[in-house]
Amino acid sequence: MKRIFNTNTAQYVGKKVKVAGWINNRRTHGKILFIDLRDKTGILQIVFTEKDKKIYKLAQELRPEWVIGIVGKINKRPKGMINPNIETGKVELQPESLEIFSKAKTLPFSIDGPGYEISEEKRLKYRYLDLRRKRLGRNLEMRHKAIQFIRDFLTKQGFVEVETPMLTKSTPEGARDFLVPSRTSPGKFYALPQSPQQYKQLLMVAGLERYFQIARCIRDEDPRGDRQPEFTQLDLEMSFVDREDILQLTEDLYTAMVKKLFPEKKFTQKPFIRMTHAQAMKKYKSDRPDLRKNKKDPNELAFAFITDFPMFEWHEKDKRWGAAHHPFTQPQTIDIKEIKKHPEKILAYQYDFVLNGQEIGGGSIRTTDLDVLTAVFEVLGHTKQETKNQFRNYFEAFSYGVPPHGGIAPGIDRFLAIMLNEPNIREVIAFPKTGDNRGLMMDTPSKVSEEQLKELHIKIRKDKK
Ligand code: ASP
Repeated sequence: MKRIFNTNTAQYVGKKVKVAGWINNRRTHGKILFIDLRDKTGILQIVFTEKDKKIYKLAQELRPEWVIGIVGKINKRPKGMINPNIETGKVELQPESLEIFSKAKTLPFSIDGPGYEISEEKRLKYRYLDLRRKRLGRNLEMRHKAIQFIRDFLTKQGFVEVETPMLTKSTPEGARDFLVPSRTSPGKFYALPQSPQQYKQLLMVAGLERYFQIARCIRDEDPRGDRQPEFTQLDLEMSFVDREDILQLTEDLYTAMVKKLFPEKKFTQKPFIRMTHAQAMKKYKSDRPDLRKNKKDPNELAFAFITDFPMFEWHEKDKRWGAAHHPFTQPQTIDIKEIKKHPEKILAYQYDFVLNGQEIGGGSIRTTDLDVLTAVFEVLGHTKQETKNQFRNYFEAFSYGVPPHGGIAPGIDRFLAIMLNEPNIREVIAFPKTGDNRGLMMDTPSKVSEEQLKELHIKIRKDKK
C-alpha cells in the first residue's frame, strides 16, 4: 500500500490508508490513547482503543518523536471532537497495524513553538531538529517557492539559467577570498566566487543576452552583524539594455512575486521609489533609507532604487580609492583624464535595490571600453600592466565583440527574512553559520589530516601570537 500524506486523509473517509511520520504528542483519556502523528504536511489524530489488544499494547510504548507507520481506517470524528484548528480536524485514524521505524531520545529543546527563546548555539548545533519546527519548515518552503517563482518568471522572459564555476579565480568584489589549494598544481590556489560577476559578463560576450543564476556567493568578511560567509543571490545580466530596462525588469519581478506569494503585504509606493544617491544622502543621510510610512507595520514594503552612486570611495584607513560597487561598473564619463584626475567627482551607472531600509541588491551597467576599465583600475592603484595581467582573459574576450550589457544581483536571504518578518537571515537559511563563521552542526571549520595537507603541499605555520 502506498503511503499518503496526513492532510490528504480527509478525502478517504471510510477507506483504509497508510500514513507515516513522527509522534508529535500522546495523551490518554481513560482507556483511549490519542497520538498526534506529524508529517511534512500536518497532524493526523490516531485513536488506539482496547478493541485491538495487540496494537493497543504496542502503542503504550510510543513516545514523542518516534517514527512510525500506520495502516488503518479513516473515520469521521464524533461530533464535539472536531478540531477546527487543523486541516484534518474532522477525521481520525483507527489503526489496524503499527510499525515502529525508529525510537527517539528526548530532544534537547522543544520544537513546538517558534523557538526564538532557545539559545541559537543549541538550535544551530541540532539544526536538523530545529528544522522540524513549523516556522522553519514554512520558511524553507517559502524560500523554495520564491526561487521557483523567479525561475519561472525569468524563463518566460527568455532568460537562461547557467551554472558558473565554484573553483575560480579571485574577483575584486571588495571582500577577502576563500582560497582552495590545488593538489595538482602545487602552490597554486583557486578562489571560491565572491559572485559570478566576470563569468556572467563573459556569457554576454558568448551571446547569451539574458542570463540568470540562483548563485551562491562566498566572501571571507570579518564577522559583522547579520552576515553569512556564503549567501545566495539572484544574479542576472542582460545585453543591449540600459539601466531603465534592468530596473523595470526587477520591479516587475518583485511586484509579481510579492503579489503571488505574500498577498498580505502592501507596497508603500508603486512604481517603486527612485532617487539618486545624492538625493538620498542629502534628505536621509543614508544610501538605503527606510521609506515606509508606518515603520511598525510588518506588512508594509517600501521598495526603492537608489541610482547614480559615486564611482569611487575613499578608504581612509589605507589611504586609497576603492570601487563603490566593483571596478566593472561603467563611469558616467568616458573622459579618461577626468577619471584619473578627479575620481571623487565621477558618478557611476550603479544602482542599489533597497527594501525597508536594507540593501537587498545592487548592480550596474558595465564598462566595455577597455581604456576606461584600465583607467578605473589605475585609480584603484593598479598599473596598466598589472590590470592587463590580472584580467588577461577578460581583456581578450572583450576584443572579440562585446555587447553593451548590465545586470543586478538581489540577495535572496535578506529579502526573505524581511518578507517572513524574521529578525535575521539565519532564520531563512537551512544550515547557517554562526556570526564568527562556524558551522556548529558539522563542526566546521575543522582540522584535516597531515596526509591531506601533504597532498596539498601545505605546511601549517605556528605563528606566535
Ligand atoms: N556582482 C555584483 C554583486 O554581487 C552584482 C552586480 O553588479 O550584478 O554585488
